[in-house]
Amino acid sequence: MRLEGKVCIITGAGSGIGKAAALLFSQEGAKVIACDVVEENLKKLKEEDDRIDVFVLDVTNREAIQNMVDNVVEKYGRIDVLVNNAGITRDALLLKMKEEDWDAVINVNLKGVFNMTQAIAPIMLKQGKGSIINTSSVVGVYGNIGQTNYSATKAGIIGMTKTWAKELARKGAQIRVNAVAPGFIKTPMTEKVPERIINALNEKIPLKRMGEAEEVARVYLFLASDESSYITGQVIGVDGGLVI
Ligand code: NAD
Repeated sequence: MRLEGKVCIITGAGSGIGKAAALLFSQEGAKVIACDVVEENLKKLKEEDDRIDVFVLDVTNREAIQNMVDNVVEKYGRIDVLVNNAGITRDALLLKMKEEDWDAVINVNLKGVFNMTQAIAPIMLKQGKGSIINTSSVVGVYGNIGQTNYSATKAGIIGMTKTWAKELARKGAQIRVNAVAPGFIKTPMTEKVPERIINALNEKIPLKRMGEAEEVARVYLFLASDESSYITGQVIGVDGGLVI
């Protein structure tokens, strides 16, 4: 029970890595508030574990975020962990990328993380304690053909993570901010990747396979728990050795 009594908000919790994290955190004793834009998936999550609170929430909607945060604070009195996991892709080569695809990915993946953290950091500052986990990607570190928008957001997340690790820890607050950089993980986000590309990618990964959502969720768990109490401002790769 590594998260006993902790109130944890997870975005993008209806699918893939976020869903695995919601289930794992709940098993570890956390009060999980699972947020996602897809109501249907939240209903399924609730059926799997009815201890989890679900919240239909778009991370681009600042008013809705404030509403959710007020609700959680009124009900539980605190917020210990924020996992900024929601993310989308709208891939195209630079010369073909539409402005709306650039804007959509920046709005969800980058501004969404800013929106969530700006709403929740004041509560953690009042408590003098908290853990914020941002989801970057190997693509934010070494780029990827066809992912101008996505790689910009995932690199931006690393900058925000390091900035917040410094800024929110001022005056002795034990607020830790870290990022996880997953490699190539089996989730709905990657299920449309053609098999020949998966095989070629697996060849480049020292562990020679894609990762499972639970393998990323377990790193979120470590960073959310007090086991990582002296770790802040770090970017932890969960990529089977892809970026070495
Ligand atoms: P996924 O598509 O299974 O899950 C993403 C979730 O985010 C979905 O449930 C979706 O509904 C939700 N979401 C989308 N827009 C939202 C919004 N505006 N507000 C709230 N929720 C929203 O994908 P995943 O693979 O589980 O991805 C989780 C995170 O991990 C993402 O940030 C992704 O960029 C990152 N990541 C994934 C991989 C991978 O290989 N799967 C690799 C590196 C990083």
